[in-house]
Amino acid sequence: MTAIIINGKEIAETVRNEWKQRAAVLKEKGILPGLAVIIVGDDPASKVYVRNKVAACHQVGLHSEVHDFPEDVSEELVLKRINNLNDNPDIHGILVQLPLPAHINIDKILETISVKKDVDGFHLHNMGALVSGKSIFPPCTPYGVQCLLEHLNIPIAGQNAVIIGRSDIVGKPMALMLLNKHATVSICTSKTRDLKLYTSLADILVVAAGRPGLVTADMVKQGSVVIDVGLTRLDDGRLVGDVDYEAVKEVAGHITPVPGGVGPMTITMLVANTVQAAERTNDINC
Ligand code: NAP
Repeated sequence: MTAIIINGKEIAETVRNEWKQRAAVLKEKGILPGLAVIIVGDDPASKVYVRNKVAACHQVGLHSEVHDFPEDVSEELVLKRINNLNDNPDIHGILVQLPLPAHINIDKILETISVKKDVDGFHLHNMGALVSGKSIFPPCTPYGVQCLLEHLNIPIAGQNAVIIGRSDIVGKPMALMLLNKHATVSICTSKTRDLKLYTSLADILVVAAGRPGLVTADMVKQGSVVIDVGLTRLDDGRLVGDVDYEAVKEVAGHITPVPGGVGPMTITMLVANTVQAAERTNDINC
């Protein structure tokens, strides 16, 4: 059996068009959803991510602006800018591109972003809301995975879901989202004693470890849904995930490629969260 390849690029286009329509409804009322992106330093990968986020905003008809700081900027200056953006009524979403230089306290930065504008969903308040099942802004990558599953009508309730990775931005929120949808969830980490024991039971396997080749065909249940969040650039320039794609696609029922799977959805959900932020600020329910 060869798996159905989940075309994240195509699904992202469809979902973006839905959000474009919601943004158009706001525009008719004179509201232009706006996203501010703060970037510190010259990390080339961060610059590419920011460029893609700005392009996605443009595509959906949102306002976006980039606040670029040099590597040695003081934490105080960044905090001041965030506070200005918190008070700016034309800005509905704020995100700080990670990673930040070591002299800047990430927690302090993330906690300064207004909860109502925290479109990355990393503020403690937003994380707590997700734990309680009353999510405000779900973090974009797991939100994108959930959106892929729902778009394909893949059942979640009652399924065994296994997440590899427990980061605050992918693994943990992913586990909570699937738990909130009634999946039976296991989280595996680098300390898990027998990874295969868990993965081979997974109806839905989400891999977010950043370890190319971690998941091999013998670890995957026949017909399961394999979502590869991993993204690593190899020395030869290729971008790869964590799953042995060629072999696993012969066992799985659905699989995401890398690139072209989860990546386009992450940015799409950022756009979705920004439009929702603008709707909420203006008490508009779509
Ligand atoms: P992270 O903070 O480094 O977390 C990685 C997690 O994987 C940790 O919990 C770690 O376990 C676990 N892990 C590492 N090696 C493992 C192993 N051999 N077996 C089982 N678990 C293992 O990474 P992240 O930020 O969550 O990102 C994960 C990957 O997703 C990266 O490749 C990143 O580039 C990618 N990513 C992609 C997107 C996208 O849009 N496509 C977005 C975000 C991230 P411990 O906790 O025990 O250390």
